[in-house]
Amino acid sequence: MHLSHFAQVPLGAHTLPPLPYPYNALEPAIDDVTLKIHHDKLHKGIVDALNKTELQLVEVRKKGNYDDIEYYERQLAFLGSGHILHSIYWTNMTYPGAGGTPSEYLMRFINFSFGSLKAFKDQFLAATKNVEASGFGILGYNPAFGRLEILQCGNFENLTQWGIIPILVCDVWEHSYFIKYHEKTADYVDAWWNLINWQDVKDRLIYAVEAKLPLQY
Ligand code: MN
Repeated sequence: MHLSHFAQVPLGAHTLPPLPYPYNALEPAIDDVTLKIHHDKLHKGIVDALNKTELQLVEVRKKGNYDDIEYYERQLAFLGSGHILHSIYWTNMTYPGAGGTPSEYLMRFINFSFGSLKAFKDQFLAATKNVEASGFGILGYNPAFGRLEILQCGNFENLTQWGIIPILVCDVWEHSYFIKYHEKTADYVDAWWNLINWQDVKDRLIYAVEAKLPLQY
């Protein structure tokens, strides 16, 4: 195995991925002010804090002083997961109604894992609308089971299954929808469904499946 086959992010060198569409592209489902603040300020803040944490840990290791290790490990889990989930969230969405439908490849996994597209949609929307406090609704591929799984995610990092690779995520932190929807989370989630870029979801599934991690029953 040659490490050069892998892209690697140097410590403290994460970057904010550009949005793949203009700020007003998702209207009326998601307004341009919300999208701009969410991406340019909030996601950028997570990236900056993650980089800072990683560089602080370089110093910690250099000094061999692990007194504050719990703080740093919590930051790594929270900020690293926040950066990953937001990066997926942006590409999971496209112009309302322009995202096509789930491909045959994706449908094979959806049917195997949930029984039908309707059953998948119903469980995914119910799970996402009922995330406790701040978090995400997540569809992920778990190589250990060879199946798709729907999970509720608290904050960015809680309630996961080890090994899961998220392929479709819906941010239900209030900053994602509050300006337009106020407390009506469910209305935002329903509108968000029509933004899904199914091609991106399928591409992410193919990458996840081809990672070929060992199956575990
Ligand atoms: Mn967010």
